[in-house]
Amino acid sequence: MWDNLSLKQVAKYAQDPYPSIRKWVKEKGIKAVGSTIADVPEEVIYAFGLLPVTILGTNKPLKKAPSRLPDNACSLARSNLELVMSYEGDLFDGFVLPQVCDTTQHLSDIWRIVLPDRYVESYLAPRQVTRPSARYWVREEIERLIASLSRWCGKSITDEDLKKSIRIHNENKALLKDIYKIKRKTPSAITNKELFSLFKLSMQLDKTEFNRSLEKIKKGLKPEKKDGYTDVILVGITCDPPEVYDLFDEINLNVVGDTLVTGTRYLQGVVDENGNPLEALTGRHFKRGFFSPIHDNVYKNFEEIKTLYQKTGAKAIIYVHIEFCESQEYDLPDLKKMIKQEGMPIHVMDTEYQTLSLSHLRTRLQAFFESLKGGSL
Ligand code: SF4
Repeated sequence: MWDNLSLKQVAKYAQDPYPSIRKWVKEKGIKAVGSTIADVPEEVIYAFGLLPVTILGTNKPLKKAPSRLPDNACSLARSNLELVMSYEGDLFDGFVLPQVCDTTQHLSDIWRIVLPDRYVESYLAPRQVTRPSARYWVREEIERLIASLSRWCGKSITDEDLKKSIRIHNENKALLKDIYKIKRKTPSAITNKELFSLFKLSMQLDKTEFNRSLEKIKKGLKPEKKDGYTDVILVGITCDPPEVYDLFDEINLNVVGDTLVTGTRYLQGVVDENGNPLEALTGRHFKRGFFSPIHDNVYKNFEEIKTLYQKTGAKAIIYVHIEFCESQEYDLPDLKKMIKQEGMPIHVMDTEYQTLSLSHLRTRLQAFFESLKGGSL
């Protein structure tokens, strides 16, 4: 079902993947386990024969979530809760929910209350990853998750199960990496919307199947040289609604690098295939790039952005700000100041999961790039 998707189908599926996931799990008799971002080891869930699905919000109206989460909770957390309370809840047999910031602290308790008949487990990765105890903590959390899934599924997994799952996930990331590389050099080969749809579906569909589609898509890309694109890097956590990528495509922006959890930070999750798989999964947690709520070194964010900007030769930085994301709001003032001092043009886009009209984003984005071309930035 997902092993022969064309690029056109991918963008369509990514817009609303849930009907297809519902059909697939029903046909296969496999349980779906939803996770919110970030850093839940999906390889572990997959090793149990379950389908890990990253839940990435909805732009459908909020009806029930506001009764559980206040108005000043980020639109991602509210929209994820709405998705399971009002729209797609029946699809999931269980959830593994990470705690990454104050908003998500004990959010799993709310999910437990509103979905009392489902399996709900938390995943508590350390936020201060530079502490010596962090490694021990991550390993303990992975082991706790394995024990919990084992009790729920009534079975245990072997090192071989984990290794097989790791290989499939690594293959997925290698294919995405190759496609991204082609896009960087020849933006006309694949649009921004299509590329990030591939990322999104990779986080939601069965990878054994979807990797076959990725292989075919990669082979079918026509890397023709075309001028007229402006190279940019995207900085942030997620970039939604997906129509934002249409805006980038409309004005010929070429995303040549990013720090998104739904982009490069996902690619950084490759796990070492040699040695003990538990140790390898633990080690992977410390190889990923900056993620606002998790790292305690504020300069790391700036240094990574600066390196990415210089390495890719991008002409501007687009910072994707999620409305009411307290972690980003804490980082952004200093970050903007440092980026401007370094002479790197930056445009901040304020996004919201329930946004349907993008005309204000379009106008501001166009004005920024006109100024950039005119040399007034
Ligand atoms: S990190 Fe930001 S966007 Fe993510 S859940 Fe926390 S507040 Fe929301």
